[in-house]
Amino acid sequence: MGFVNLLTMAKRFTGIIAILLLLRLTTASASHEFCDARMGYNVVGCGGSDSSSRRILIKGGTVVNAHHQEVADVYIDDGIIADVKPNIMVGDEVTVIDATGKFVMPGGIDPHTHLEMEFMGTDSTETIDDFFSGQAAALAGGTTMHIDFVMPVNGSLSLGFKAYVEKAKKSCMDYGFHMTITKWDDTVAREMEIMVKEKGINSFKFFLAYKGIVMINDELLLEGLKKCKSLGALAMVHAENGDAVFEGQKRMIELGITGPEGHALSRPPLLEAEATARAIRLAGFINTPLYIVHVMSIDAMEEIAKARKLGQRVVGEPVVSGLVLNDSGLWDPDFNIAAKQGLISFPFSSFLVLLFLSLWSLL
Ligand SMILES: [Zn+2]
Repeated sequence: MGFVNLLTMAKRFTGIIAILLLLRLTTASASHEFCDARMGYNVVGCGGSDSSSRRILIKGGTVVNAHHQEVADVYIDDGIIADVKPNIMVGDEVTVIDATGKFVMPGGIDPHTHLEMEFMGTDSTETIDDFFSGQAAALAGGTTMHIDFVMPVNGSLSLGFKAYVEKAKKSCMDYGFHMTITKWDDTVAREMEIMVKEKGINSFKFFLAYKGIVMINDELLLEGLKKCKSLGALAMVHAENGDAVFEGQKRMIELGITGPEGHALSRPPLLEAEATARAIRLAGFINTPLYIVHVMSIDAMEEIAKARKLGQRVVGEPVVSGLVLNDSGLWDPDFNIAAKQGLISFPFSSFLVLLFLSLWSLL
């Protein structure tokens, strides 16, 4: 459930500047309009691509970049922005999109999505959006690329990759893959090498939480960090102390607290901070960069800020839902509302301080 909520929030907001998106000044567009306009390539979900989509001129819009804005044309050749300047002349073979009176601005990259994901490897719970519906929603919100996490199949990275290539055939925009590591052994280590060298995946997520399911201990995390370093890949961690979370869950059950509020009470921010600090120090010990996914607590953020100030290559991932929501929804007397609004791992925290810290320490 948490992943669904996270995704629903995350995909509606932009992240890092990427490629140009034609932003309408009117209200949100329906997904099919993006297909009609042939935005993106590999538009299988839109009914296939054709050669006329390879050269596009976006004409007469106000081009907005980080440093300035100007009325100009944007010429795109086979998915690459080839020129940005006023009055570009093209032949009949180029598809011209009139952007007069509209902004033409960079789209966003959402670096953390879980489309059509079988939660915890089971087929009983699956995230609600697939590679078409999720991408269509993202496009409507201004995100033009995303990076999804491939889940291994029975621990096999190759089988997981194959399954996700299949799922992604519905795609209507650009995407990339991270790989989630759900167990650790020599086969996984070998397959990581194949993913990097042959499949274009160069970031791997390790779980310090979800004890007994996908959690790895420090010994195996060190192995994973070393492997990432040797491959030039980026190590990512879900940083919560899984042993302590398990203890917290047992405590909640003993106290008879079995509603959604028990989720937050069982995994307080200090457990996120502990795992974040530990992962940062172990990555520092191995001397490899570290990316910490969905940072939610102030304590964890302070650990990241401290490490960055000391010059360590650590990235904390802010999550929009974490910046604008807190965990109060978990206490809603209506179970459906409580479960829908607040169940996410890590739990939401105090958003105002998070916002301040994220702006000054992370971004
Ligand atoms: Zn995730």
